[in-house]
Amino acid sequence: MKRFFESGSSNTKKQKTQANRKYDDSYLQFGFVVKFGSENSTPLPQCVICQETLSNQSMKPSLLKRHQLSKHPETENKPIEFFQRKVTIFRKESKCMSSFTNFNENIVKASYLASLIIAKDGKPHTIGETLVLPAAKEIVRCVLGDKAAKEIEKVSLSNDTVKEELMTCRRI
Ligand SMILES: [Zn+2]
Repeated sequence: MKRFFESGSSNTKKQKTQANRKYDDSYLQFGFVVKFGSENSTPLPQCVICQETLSNQSMKPSLLKRHQLSKHPETENKPIEFFQRKVTIFRKESKCMSSFTNFNENIVKASYLASLIIAKDGKPHTIGETLVLPAAKEIVRCVLGDKAAKEIEKVSLSNDTVKEELMTCRRI
């Protein structure tokens, strides 16, 4: 949402000539760390209290302080250690979130790749659930253990999934 708004508001060539505001370590006193968008390297201020990311143009003490005072007045004049602790907690949480996302992406990817093999070989779609998955589960259980085999159960190769993968494939 936020990113859409930002790219929408600066979709002209002027963007390149406009200098980006830079992060300064002292902004941590307002509860802000720097975040880089994945598509470009524009530094954005991100609040460690509510995790909200502001625009690059807000990267200046007066605007950061305004966010702090309006949203988190209780954090005003807290020692820098207070914010450093928040950063540590915050980083741990984001790391956790991203590994969760990766995990889900891997499940989808696994379903897709396996479905593709089945489809390419011209085998009936049903063998995904009746043959491929049980076999994969046993292989994983023996090689990697029970815990890994449990993860495999989340991969779906049901008839519908294979059909969907195929449809997607054809569209590409
Ligand atoms: Zn905030």
